Amino acid sequence: MEPKVWISVDMEGVGGLVDRTQFMPGEPEYKRARAEMMAEMRTVVEAAWDAGAGRVVVNDSHDGQLNLAYDGLFGLPPRTELISGMGKRFAMAEGMRGMDLALLIGYHGRSGTSLAVMDHTDSGDVWNVFLNDIEVGELGLNAYLAGYYGMPVGLVAGDAALALEVRALLPDTPFVVTKTAVGRRAARLIHPDQVRDELREATRRAVLQVARGQGPEPLRAKTPVAVRVSFMTSEGADAAMLYPGCTRVDGRSVAASFSDMEQAYLACRTLFLMGTGFPLY
Ligand SMILES: [Zn+2]
Repeated sequence: MEPKVWISVDMEGVGGLVDRTQFMPGEPEYKRARAEMMAEMRTVVEAAWDAGAGRVVVNDSHDGQLNLAYDGLFGLPPRTELISGMGKRFAMAEGMRGMDLALLIGYHGRSGTSLAVMDHTDSGDVWNVFLNDIEVGELGLNAYLAGYYGMPVGLVAGDAALALEVRALLPDTPFVVTKTAVGRRAARLIHPDQVRDELREATRRAVLQVARGQGPEPLRAKTPVAVRVSFMTSEGADAAMLYPGCTRVDGRSVAASFSDMEQAYLACRTLFLMGTGFPLY
């Protein structure tokens, strides 16, 4: 079979990048940083087609989700699809359903990870997230949703701290390390040629494995799915308590239970939106 490959591309885990001035559109280093992000995307897209993918869909998963564009896809098969822009129901996971293989590129450590470039979960106002008492960040949320749709995660790329999350949740999924953080906004970088060589090879293997009916198992959450979200401030939790069925766990935290992972994912998205934007003081 020719696998349908879905690629989610975030930015904080892309090789060569460490700082907010690179990650935020409008900041001075953003333009150069965006080129690095597109170079990693392009490497993975090319490798997926070369390995025999039947369909390749890329979902822009960073900030306002307007970072990737067809100038980075120029010269690739015109069938390469790009999902771009804000207001997508599933945000980082948009377009995932119905695909055969998920590749997560440019990903970063969850909120509160030590020595991880720009560790955070969703907005910077989310303190931590648990699914069935397992702490997750963006990687875990998206991997569990992929699992709900029966899709394995065939590759994750990001900094060395993210490797720990991958090992804990997705022990059979290959990880490409792009840099090693020495602070939240500083890292020992790996040459981009080396990173891209490893991305190319790991993508090729992941696509070939799925084509043969092999590869990692999808990550499935037990149901019902218990969600617990904590915010930076108790005011964030006050706001999140407007969500029907929520209970207050403590000053910062709310909890609720959902019949399946898709509902839990959408609930997390809603809770993050509700609990975000309050001043620290
Ligand atoms: Zn991001």
